[in-house]
Amino acid sequence: MRITRVEASWVQVPIPPDRQHLSDFGRQPTFDSVIVRVETESGITGWGEAKAGVASTAACAGLAAIINQDLAPLLVGEDPRDISRLWDVLYNMPRQGFAIDRGHVFPTLGRRGLSISAIAGIDIALWDILGKSLGAPIWRLLGGRRAERMPAYASGGWADENKIGEQLLGYIDKGGFRAVKMRVGSMDGPVARSAARVRAARRALGPEVGLAADAHGTWTVAEAKAFCRMVEDCDLLWFEEPVTADDKQGQAEVRRASAVPISSGESEFTRHDFRELAELRAADVLQPDLAIAGGITEGVRIGAIATAFNLRLAPHLWSGAPAFAAGLHLAASNSAGFILEYSLGHNPMLHDLIEERFPVQDGMVDVPDRPGLGITVKEDFLNRYRRQ
Ligand SMILES: [Mg+2]
Repeated sequence: MRITRVEASWVQVPIPPDRQHLSDFGRQPTFDSVIVRVETESGITGWGEAKAGVASTAACAGLAAIINQDLAPLLVGEDPRDISRLWDVLYNMPRQGFAIDRGHVFPTLGRRGLSISAIAGIDIALWDILGKSLGAPIWRLLGGRRAERMPAYASGGWADENKIGEQLLGYIDKGGFRAVKMRVGSMDGPVARSAARVRAARRALGPEVGLAADAHGTWTVAEAKAFCRMVEDCDLLWFEEPVTADDKQGQAEVRRASAVPISSGESEFTRHDFRELAELRAADVLQPDLAIAGGITEGVRIGAIATAFNLRLAPHLWSGAPAFAAGLHLAASNSAGFILEYSLGHNPMLHDLIEERFPVQDGMVDVPDRPGLGITVKEDFLNRYRRQ
């Protein structure tokens, strides 16, 4: 089997004004992602997704260009099932031969950022092809699924202290979720206001529902410690990205200062970043976004780090359908996997890009039996919203 064509498209779907939400990232008028298509001579097409930062449409254009201009020529003619070797080819580029011969890395300057996201988009598509070629879902290729259904948590929670309970209870009405996540952080103003919102949420939800809080890395170490102290009796499932991803020592300090479990990872790239988080004991839960951190191949390595350090794995799944499915297959097959993120923001790339659905029932999502990622991309949707 040979790769005949690789094509990345920046896809931009408008979000209707009444479905847009306001956060520290501002108001998002569109949902943007880069969808990767890898075609083979056997007729099997693999789909992947590569992600740039929030609200960065120019970065999506750049990401698609990296894939189409730099990576595609390295892939055409190759066997798409040689995933491990192709990952090393893309990561080590001109020095790929050394890397493959000698068994250690020779990366280029693009060791983080869009170059890694570009590899991620390709990698996810290659796993999709491998699964389809064997008639097997990706979780089976990763060692099998640990259960037929996995718990999911509803991810949203932007409302103020007076409305947050109602908003989170609305999510539970929708899918019977047993866990929810709300946003906190600098957008609230004083730390005490975030803490008051969390306490209001806990009061409304009662003691049985899991409640996580996500600060999007917006606080200083001191602010994050103060928040932990204020919500210590709220039994948080986890406190996500307390401080900027560039202050891993600071994050470890926050974790040491309190009993509140700390999570992070959606802003990290490759196994190397996650090894650092683990070694510094900066997190209890690792949250790689497979469309950012390096794809399923790198996700498996990150999962191994999680298990070796007795941490848990909860992939970041605020994404389109290819990255959501990739994270689902990883979480379902990894010893450290235990819960899925389910975005309750307006997410056309998850719900409208593909023909299938990932329905939530009693707070659980089925781990699908379909080959590969288990998704069928609607090409008319892709073509309609393709920016380039
Ligand atoms: Mg987050």
